[in-house]
Amino acid sequence: MKCEPRPLVAGNWKMNGTMSAMAQIEALGELMAAAGPLGVDVVLCPPATILGALWARQCEGGGGLGDLMLGAQTCHAEDSGAHTGDLSAPMLRDAGAQLVIVGHSERRADHGETSEDVAAKARAAWRAGLIAVICVGETLGEREAGEAVDLVTGQLAASVPDGANGDNTVIAYEPVWAIGTGKTPTVGDIAQMHAAIRHRLEERFGAGAAAMRILYGGSVKPDNAIALLGAANVDGALVGGASLKAKDLWGILQIYL
Ligand code: PEP
Repeated sequence: MKCEPRPLVAGNWKMNGTMSAMAQIEALGELMAAAGPLGVDVVLCPPATILGALWARQCEGGGGLGDLMLGAQTCHAEDSGAHTGDLSAPMLRDAGAQLVIVGHSERRADHGETSEDVAAKARAAWRAGLIAVICVGETLGEREAGEAVDLVTGQLAASVPDGANGDNTVIAYEPVWAIGTGKTPTVGDIAQMHAAIRHRLEERFGAGAAAMRILYGGSVKPDNAIALLGAANVDGALVGGASLKAKDLWGILQIYL
């Protein structure tokens, strides 16, 4: 019998949110606590400024986050050193993160991160005991040219280090053209890409690849979550805009209740 991985929904706040936004995170924690045990892991990746403050509040016993896990949006490939403004994986772990996103298309585009850089960051995450959420995805031009599967599986090969398994790694397929645009691939296109990703993971990592979660990301909202996340081999979602409001993220989580 094939064992399905437990779904994961991760919210990526990007460069949004000041301390006043902590109320949204606490509201989500309260909704989750009231609902009782969920059939999904839920992680929020706020800016590092809020991450540390939330964790401090939680440690003081005033948190109210319930089962909500905390994550970060990127990390440096080294554990410490002369890298002004950067944050290392051990620092993020110390600030309460259990997971870190690496290789988001905005990091690849804005900071020129290559797949090799992404692999180095994933290894840094593992050294610190963090789960690496490794993002891959094609541009609209690449999709229209019929190159999406080759492009994404190529990124996957170069971005996922040897040693990946279901405990230390999550893959997020995020078509660049679907991020923050309201546009989404068809359910068939998502299923095709996730099958290709699963197949490549199985070729490389064997039976253990079945435990690796493959998330879909790109304009997931409460009203399209059932359709998009119901596709074969989709083990949850990486959510940007809709994770900023507790009620919207909660709307997406409803499909796992
Ligand atoms: C993202 O930034 O990873 C993302 C999927 O954003 P959105 O949900 O807003 O498209």
